[in-house]
Amino acid sequence: MHWIEVDGYPMPKLWGGHHALDFCNTWSGWDAVVRTPSGEPDPKREWIPTYDRLAVWAGHAGLLSTKTVGRLRDAAKGDPRSAASVLRAAYRFRNALYRLLRDPADGAAFDEVARVAQAAVRATELVPDVEGGARRQLPESTGLSWPLYAVARAAEDLLTDASHRSVRACPGTDCGWLFLDVRGRRRWCDMASCGNRAKVRAHAARQAGE
Ligand SMILES: [Zn+2]
Repeated sequence: MHWIEVDGYPMPKLWGGHHALDFCNTWSGWDAVVRTPSGEPDPKREWIPTYDRLAVWAGHAGLLSTKTVGRLRDAAKGDPRSAASVLRAAYRFRNALYRLLRDPADGAAFDEVARVAQAAVRATELVPDVEGGARRQLPESTGLSWPLYAVARAAEDLLTDASHRSVRACPGTDCGWLFLDVRGRRRWCDMASCGNRAKVRAHAARQAGE
């Protein structure tokens, strides 16, 4: 199974090996959306159809603390228009990031990813690190954009690291999930799910051919 239940919601399993890839994997069936990118989420493929689920996903992925997720969910109820606008921006960003990871020459996708990643950097503040020195973090004042900016920071992290060259897409039907394949041996998002389904189909096709 591709999902587990978190806070009463089905949430996609974190098989990507990187937060940015797991975010792309909040949509299933990428080939369809690459052909017809529409703003409207398909309920059968969309794991984050509402801002509330986007916030819960960010907690599930370990990008935001439970406390922050709770605060954002409350804040979104008080400002549904802003929440819907952040959700639309998250879909645009996810689409661009997926396209860029599949095709590094996609300049329009790069521009969109860079635009959001730079907005996320501008939203950060430099704080002292516990081990000395300093680090960048998103402050409380980031507000409803927090889950999107947290993902954009993760995407920058991936794209500026050599590991982005090891990103592969699962060939499973209605899947297309991304994952890191550093050793060059992984074919499926998950052998027991997509790998097994493909094996069963191949077996059925062989039997039909006999
Ligand atoms: Zn798969």
